Amino acid sequence: MKKYLLAPGPTQVSPEVLLAMAQPILHHRAPEFVELLKRVKEDLKWLFQTQNDVLIIASTGTGGMEGSVSNFLSPGDKALFVNGGKFGERWGKICKNYGVLTEEIKVPWGYVVKPEDVSKALKKDPSIKAVFIQASETSTGVAHPIREVAEVVRGYEGCLMIVDAISALGVFDIQTDTWGLDVVISGSQKALALPPGLAFVSVSEKAWRQAGKASNAKFYFDFKKERESLAKNQTAYTAAVSLIVGLEQSLKMMKEEGLQNIFARRSLMAQALREGMAGIGLASYPKEAPSTSVTAISAPEGYDGQEIYKNLRVKYGITAAGGQDDLKGKVFRISNMGDLDTFDTIMAVAAVEMVLKGMGHPLNLGTGVGIAQGILLKK
Ligand SMILES: *Cc1c(COP(=O)(O)O)cnc(C)c1O
Repeated sequence: MKKYLLAPGPTQVSPEVLLAMAQPILHHRAPEFVELLKRVKEDLKWLFQTQNDVLIIASTGTGGMEGSVSNFLSPGDKALFVNGGKFGERWGKICKNYGVLTEEIKVPWGYVVKPEDVSKALKKDPSIKAVFIQASETSTGVAHPIREVAEVVRGYEGCLMIVDAISALGVFDIQTDTWGLDVVISGSQKALALPPGLAFVSVSEKAWRQAGKASNAKFYFDFKKERESLAKNQTAYTAAVSLIVGLEQSLKMMKEEGLQNIFARRSLMAQALREGMAGIGLASYPKEAPSTSVTAISAPEGYDGQEIYKNLRVKYGITAAGGQDDLKGKVFRISNMGDLDTFDTIMAVAAVEMVLKGMGHPLNLGTGVGIAQGILLKK
């Protein structure tokens, strides 16, 4: 059975990237690797839309999140975090482990944070040193208004805007410098269509100043040390060389397509998937601002979302995702990240129709597919 990966991480990797990574291993201190890192460093700035260096760390995205707590805050410092799902919740857990006191904005699942709520919290307690948020909350399929939240945070000289863009950067527009995002985190296995194992972190001058005062314990995730190494086109410890070779290829392909074209194409694919699903009576789970990166779809009344997700895999070789925690059984999720194109979207709609038909749902095969095709024709 042919396998398809439509999970919101890890995502499908292109043959070009896989082939690039199959080359013999480079030594991480060899001149060839130093040259490679120099090129990749520039391309990452382009992707992050920033003038600042983007740190490359051998870890999954969570390592980038953890480092963004330990490098910028001291025990006893206060931070605000937006909790609208599993990943927002993670910010709170990391802060707790580092002795950072937290103020939480709890957002009901499926909704976005209101920038006014961030504004109110910062007014009430101006000693808050960081706001932690997700650009795309992968567990609920919602995109928070990070640009508007950043506008609020920008008014506070002692407060950093720290964005987990692990499932966002490279799929929809995130203007790091223009929007004043102090720290932006990404990971290899989601929007960048690479295997798991790399975290990326861009850091503003304002954040570096705050890092100079932060006393939390750290060793491996020492951003200052990584910054000094990166200035010499090196990584502090052994680089994940093969992943960085793959990264260069992935960035090369993204540059060829162009950021605006990528955003437009991904947006159209997400729209086709949502409307294709709506056409067979399946509602998008988010109550507002559905993310372009992942589509969370509510299971129809009387059908188990976990069964739909399981049938996709067992019957047709398609790995998507189910729901987490409260959403278990209520939704299934289909990724719009990774090496995907028009026909992956059409396939996803077709497969959901076939699975539901097989489960006894009274739908007309092809209805959703036709709608998705109509939208994708606009490309
Ligand atoms: C996947 C994901 C993470 C965690 O990344 P890992 O690579 O699994 O450590 C964090 N935040 C968001 C929004 C994600 O989608």
